[in-house]
Amino acid sequence: MGETAIRTESLSKRYGTVSALRGLDLELAQGEVVGCLGPNGAGKTTTIRLLLGLIRPTSGRAEIFGLDCQRQTVEAHRRLAYVAGEANLWPALTGAETLHLLGRIQGRVDAAYRDELIARFELDPAKKVRAYSKGNRQKLILIGALMTRPDLLLLDEPTSGLDPLMEQAFRHCIGEARERGQTVFLSSHILSEVEALCDRVGILREGVLVEMGTLAQMRHLAALTVEATFEGDVPDLSAVPGVSAVERDGNVVRLQVRGTVEPLLKVLAASGVRELLSREPSLEELFLAHYGAGAPAGDAAAGGPAPHGAALGDPGSDEPAPGGAASDEPSHAE
Ligand code: ATP
Repeated sequence: MGETAIRTESLSKRYGTVSALRGLDLELAQGEVVGCLGPNGAGKTTTIRLLLGLIRPTSGRAEIFGLDCQRQTVEAHRRLAYVAGEANLWPALTGAETLHLLGRIQGRVDAAYRDELIARFELDPAKKVRAYSKGNRQKLILIGALMTRPDLLLLDEPTSGLDPLMEQAFRHCIGEARERGQTVFLSSHILSEVEALCDRVGILREGVLVEMGTLAQMRHLAALTVEATFEGDVPDLSAVPGVSAVERDGNVVRLQVRGTVEPLLKVLAASGVRELLSREPSLEELFLAHYGAGAPAGDAAAGGPAPHGAALGDPGSDEPAPGGAASDEPSHAE
């Protein structure tokens, strides 16, 4: 029986009038790879900073491997490694010196794996950090985290700035971490990344976890897309129970159906349908369904898919400083 890697109970964080996180109940078993999706300002970074003990919750609590993230921060940090979306590193050090320093802080390094990662990510460790591109700085902190083989990887938009080839290398590393029984909690905007890597996915919206489950479970909750081609007259399908978003293009009808498809199949069977295609929603469609314009947080699952591009913006405006601890509180980290 594995340990519980992460547990939060009613974890909440307010910044002045902004509720960055509201009543988060989260549980990750050891060995799980869980992705956290959400638009800008949804509370992803806040969640990770609370787990790191970098900021104090307004209410609720969080534990990592049974260790209180606030009171046992140092012990908790021995079991985890953190990658921020934007690396704040020492510009005058070389890549190799930075890895040495990060390794000393963590206390354990798998040197053979570190060298393998440097080769895989095609990083030149002799260069000074200030001479690295954003992508190369990102590779450096990824290597710095992965080389310690931590029990828990907390990754906040870990692939920002990486090119597709390096994104592939990252995915490979997460696959390896999974095989070794490491736990991974990552936030991302890249749906294909989350889809490819994660056992479970959570969707945050305005500080509320509006959905959590496997992709299969989430797809089950969402609408199925159906395309029907008719021999002759096209029937009116808009009144069929469960059907929405009906679009007609000549003798082809596209629509969405939620819940049982039986009423729709009955109507189609009686209407001379020639071809029928159906597919489950992509993660992108599921994600957009949770950000439909005007869908209130906590009730988003009820909404249909939003038009593309809708409401993926930032509900709050004041972004935290990248990489470091939040500005309003002292750091509790080592
Ligand atoms: P992104 O995808 O842009 O990184 P996010 O999901 O990580 O977004 P958070 O950074 O957790 O979102 O922010 C959640 C909310 O809390 C936002 O409204 C943000 O403006 C606010 N916030 C975060 N940090 C602070 C801070 N130090 N002071 C004031 N408000 C903050």
